[in-house]
Amino acid sequence: MHVLIVEDDQAIASSLVLGLQSAGMTVTHVATGIQAVTASQYDVMLLDIGLPDIDGFEVCRRIRLTSQVPIIMLTARADEIDRVFGLETGADDYVAKPFGLRELIARIRAVTRRLTLHNTPKSSQIVIQELKVDSATRRVNIAGAEIDLTAKEFDLLEYLVREPGVVHRRNDILETVWDTDWYGPTKTLDAHIAALRKKLGHPEWISAIRGVGFRFEIMP
Ligand code: CA
Repeated sequence: MHVLIVEDDQAIASSLVLGLQSAGMTVTHVATGIQAVTASQYDVMLLDIGLPDIDGFEVCRRIRLTSQVPIIMLTARADEIDRVFGLETGADDYVAKPFGLRELIARIRAVTRRLTLHNTPKSSQIVIQELKVDSATRRVNIAGAEIDLTAKEFDLLEYLVREPGVVHRRNDILETVWDTDWYGPTKTLDAHIAALRKKLGHPEWISAIRGVGFRFEIMP
């Protein structure tokens, strides 16, 4: 795993380099947007938004013209988080500063696993710790006990657990799980999330990301 860090703050960059290297990753660091756009041969990019030349949004936009390499934005302010997704920059995920190394490593693994998932046939069974979701039989069980879900609840859960750790935007969930032409109120989604959390008995498994959407958490 080769990580490219794009960060102009030397202190943050140095601690990131050390931390990711100690997790067994190969790390390259650049400090400007232009260097980021012209870099090659890395598997995932950690991209700061505030850079001395072109900002992270513009870096992301330019890279997406030619590449689908996973990009995780490093955001310092809450209002940037909405823009990461709202501007259709093509970022795969974001981590808000200050962040812990473990969280960051989990996000890196999630976005790179997502690519692998998309390139391999979907298996019918997803197992995450004690949770088992079977698309073929449409059955869900936790530690061997079957959970009774409605059809939509099942579809929603299956959609989220396919990519644990990845933030899904509300509109993406609605379009995929409900109907491709869904542009109505999104209260239905919240109601289904609430029902799912209750039935699973582990509300912490599904996180709401304010102003963005939902994420099925990576269980340690
Ligand atoms: Ca910066």
